[in-house]
Amino acid sequence: MRLKERSGGREWVFTFGVTESAQELTKKRDYERLLKEFGAKPITDRIISSFRKPHKFLLTKLFYAHRDLDIYLKERAKDNPVSIVSGRGPSNYMHIGHLVIFQFVKWLQDELDAEVYIPLSDDEKYVFGKVESLSQAYVYAIDNALDLIALGFKEGKTFFFISTKLDDVYSLSVKLSRHLTLNTVRATFGLEDKGVNSGVIFYAAVQAAHMLLPTAKKGLPVLVPIAMDQDPYMRLTRDVAMKAGLRKPAAVYSKYVSGLTREPMSASKPETSVFLVDSNEDIKQKIWMAFTGGRSTVKEQKKLGGNPEVCVVYEWLKVFVFDDLKAMNEHAARCRSGELLCGECKRVLAEALIRKLAEHKARKKQALEVIDKFFLHEVDVPQEIAKALEE
Ligand code: SF4
Repeated sequence: MRLKERSGGREWVFTFGVTESAQELTKKRDYERLLKEFGAKPITDRIISSFRKPHKFLLTKLFYAHRDLDIYLKERAKDNPVSIVSGRGPSNYMHIGHLVIFQFVKWLQDELDAEVYIPLSDDEKYVFGKVESLSQAYVYAIDNALDLIALGFKEGKTFFFISTKLDDVYSLSVKLSRHLTLNTVRATFGLEDKGVNSGVIFYAAVQAAHMLLPTAKKGLPVLVPIAMDQDPYMRLTRDVAMKAGLRKPAAVYSKYVSGLTREPMSASKPETSVFLVDSNEDIKQKIWMAFTGGRSTVKEQKKLGGNPEVCVVYEWLKVFVFDDLKAMNEHAARCRSGELLCGECKRVLAEALIRKLAEHKARKKQALEVIDKFFLHEVDVPQEIAKALEE
């Protein structure tokens, strides 16, 4: 590799022509900083091998760091019950990237027989101005919950709640708010001095309440699987827990999965991801435009091979399609040897996603029948959601 200046920014240029962007390097630096500067620990082989059937996200290091996961697992090994909290901010329909953490949570539930709590933070999306009204957030919350129930969470062990609908959230938030100063909240959320509404400030206590609810209500140890950029909120909650005399939640951190264009996946940029409501044509078109590690001509590709390390199509195959490391490694080897062409790879990915999303939609429709059994409060499914699932 050599360093090259381009458009005022820096890019590492691989000797065989495929580039790793400055954004990729920033990501890698962030991953390391979480371990080196912020005191998270790497998930070791020893921890991974303590699971009966380690998930591919652990084996591929997509989940790579933790806080107190070892202590949490020791508790479970003593046959004590444990819980997992993983939230969702309902400001839009979900895309496939949103499912990554919840697929991991579902696997953890099966491995540990854990209770799972899924807060849907309508309050967060409202006070931060991401939705027009709480009723709009409600519609997304129900739609998102159906998508998550469709992943196969256990009935009777999985508890959804919409933040403003559960009284326990308010009472616990008030208790915890005494341990949070304005300055701490400002620093954690990176808030400006002016123009911040009071709901934003109080939401820090609400988020801590979401994570600590199973501990405060039932004395259960909590594990929170989250993306690594959420660590400041995790540290804040652990600090608040300690001050409130509650056990600190453990955490496992994931790296980012690249968007199709290599930017982060974003609901405001539809081309960066595949939404669970996308048509088959949309999916094919988005995958066709995805960033690859391929050569500029078929001739070159056959002669020199591609670079799976920077290829988003390969990354997505690893995360969403392949089940084991052997299949991943074989695919990468075929790419490097020039045996594979990018068009063929994209076709495989698009077909697999179309098949998976069709199966998902069928399970989501079935979830309509049982949704009330998964909520800690009463829920009504809005007509528009039921109608969309009938189509
Ligand atoms: Fe990526 Fe496949 Fe092209 Fe290799 S052949 S660079 S894995 S799309």
